[in-house]
Amino acid sequence: MADSPIPDLISGGIMLSYRCNNACRHCLYRCSPKHENRWMSDATMDKVFSSMSSEQQLRGVHLAGGEATLNMPVLKKALKYAQKHNVPVDYLETNCGWCDSFETGLNTFTELKDAGLEAVLISASLFHNEFIPFCRTRDGIEAALHVFEGRVIIWTQEIFSQLSRLDHNRTHTLPESMKILDLDYNGVWKMHSYLTPAGRAAETLTEGLRKYPAENFRGDNCRSCLGSTGHFHIDPHGNLYTGHCPGLSIANVNEDLHPSVQNMYKHKLYRILQEKGPVGLQEICPEFRADKNGYIHKCHLCLELRKELFRLNKYAELTPPEYYL
Ligand code: SF4
Ligand code: SF4
Repeated sequence: MADSPIPDLISGGIMLSYRCNNACRHCLYRCSPKHENRWMSDATMDKVFSSMSSEQQLRGVHLAGGEATLNMPVLKKALKYAQKHNVPVDYLETNCGWCDSFETGLNTFTELKDAGLEAVLISASLFHNEFIPFCRTRDGIEAALHVFEGRVIIWTQEIFSQLSRLDHNRTHTLPESMKILDLDYNGVWKMHSYLTPAGRAAETLTEGLRKYPAENFRGDNCRSCLGSTGHFHIDPHGNLYTGHCPGLSIANVNEDLHPSVQNMYKHKLYRILQEKGPVGLQEICPEFRADKNGYIHKCHLCLELRKELFRLNKYAELTPPEYYL
């Protein structure tokens, strides 16, 4: 991969759909029930896993959505293709919104275990709790621990403990849970320390946070993030996303996951971000009016600029379209 801006892939998520039962405020890929009911096709799945099998440094992948369990046949098919191409599946990521009892949890996880799944990651956050009562998260975890004999990641255990202080049998809006747990927005970010200041978080979780003028980010290029493959994602269309940069892709499993530097130069926005960061995008987008209140991070500025550039309908690397709608 010496002449590609995208190095060997190491570990990442295979997103079977952008559709989810939730529309969490922190969702990096802006998944939601409003997305079309579109799922990765058989042909793309085959291509994804055969591409993964030829990655020399790949440690494993995880399966995700949106919420992958909304379409069990597709999820089981993904496990089959992973086996066919000998690609290790580290875990399935699920929000457990479907888990209306311990028994349902046992049945669903047993079905998935029989299909070849060996471990799960269960999400627990104040954002998920706006849609999913704690009892579903709790019962899902208990059932998963039973079925997968401990191979369960609770993401995160600390937040799960905090959630247990809320009413177990109902959802809570974020302002409600913040009030109960005595948190402001800075406290929410601290509690969910893994949050990325991009995607939906950059639109919905900025209140009370320190903001900086766009100019502050001048000279901060994105080379290392765009070249990071330790937590990549491949979406249902086969697009590859590196770093924490959803909505921006120059590689697809149906073409080449490691395009040459020469090919990268065909993608103007990607190249600008690599060399100059989002302030470089501002220079080619005179229509953009920077928010006088500022931005919490350069990725926040990047998202707003890319939304504006998407409207011009001339940059293929701004994909998929549903991310920008
Ligand atoms: S459950 Fe996960 S995929 Fe769905 S909206 Fe929330 S963060 Fe996104
Ligand atoms: S500014 Fe944009 S390209 Fe750079 S790391 Fe953030 S999301 Fe990625």
